[in-house]
Formats: sequence, structure tokens, C-alpha cells
Amino acid sequence: MILELPILRFGKNALEPYISAQTIEFHYDKLFRYYINNVNILLDEFQLVRFGLRTIIKKYAKQGGILFYNVAQVWNHTFYFEQLSPTPKTMPEGNLLLAINKSFDSVAEFKHKFDKAVISFWGSGNVWLSQKDDGTLLITQELNEGNPLTKDYKPLLICDVWEHAYYLDYPCRKTDYIYNFWNILDWDIIEKRFDD
Ligand code: MN
Repeated sequence: MILELPILRFGKNALEPYISAQTIEFHYDKLFRYYINNVNILLDEFQLVRFGLRTIIKKYAKQGGILFYNVAQVWNHTFYFEQLSPTPKTMPEGNLLLAINKSFDSVAEFKHKFDKAVISFWGSGNVWLSQKDDGTLLITQELNEGNPLTKDYKPLLICDVWEHAYYLDYPCRKTDYIYNFWNILDWDIIEKRFDD
């Protein structure tokens, strides 16, 4: 398995004014590529080329280490960027909508709770929406490269709360970052993940 940087579905400036071309350049072209290059070297070194990233995340979550950090960051950034769009579906429908209503009462209430989880996050990491085995949805704050797969949850949605994701565009304004995040989040992708 030799990983390549996934194709970005949109132009670098397409998410403006919510996320700038400069942030995409640093976050996607430089940082994401850096993680991918690391993983390609490490998989070879650890003789794990035959395993998928998901398997490695679960296998190495407890012990952590440089391989786990980089593999999880590749997985997390793939998940983050593929759900963003300049022309997103702005509201969930179908089975996902039913599940959100069941777990959070309404989409508005879900967003409110998710916003709070982002704003109150201390340090670097990601806020996730995931599904548990019993079907219920939950929001979790995962430090650094943490991933709900390691808790046997099914990840549905991620918000990158590392400063590199928003600081150029929203210095000291994480609140504005999450409020604007909803303008570029493509619910079509989240529905597909949910139905998968
Ligand atoms: Mn990031």
C-alpha cells in the first residue's frame, strides 16, 4: 500500500470566505502530505504495508507511538476534507435525520451541542459525531490524533480543532470557525457514511 494525497474535490479558494486558500495550502498540501509521506515510510519500516489504516488504528491505539499518530492523522484528514464542499447539502435527511432527532431531539440541538464541544475543547484534537452499536449517536472530543474507531464507534463527522485548521482565518476566534463550518459541511457525505 503506497498512499497518495487524495484529490481535493474543489479548488483551493473554493471554500472562501469560510476557509481561505492559504489555510488549504498549509493544511492540505503541506501538512496532510507530510502525514502521508510519513505513513508511507513507517508502514514499510514496520512491515505493515499489507494492512489497512483502520486495522492499524485499532491495533496500535493503546500503545500509541509515531506510526499510530501518523496513520490516524491520515485517516482523520481524509475524513475531514472529503466532507467539505463549496456547494454542500445543508440539511441531513432520511435515516440520518431520524437518528439525529432521536439522539439530540433536533438538528439545531445537535449543532448547538457540537458547537459547545468545539468551543470548550482544550488543546489540539478533533470533535466527532459517531454512532454506537445500539444505533444512538454521540459527540466526543478526541485529543490529538484520537479516533472513535478505537472505542468501536462508527465515525460520521469530524471537525478539526487543531489550531492549524482555523487559526490563520479565525485568530483567537474558534467560535466563528465552528459557526462557519456548517456552511461548508456536506450532509450528503455524512448520510452516505451513515447508510454505509
Ligand atoms: Mn488538521
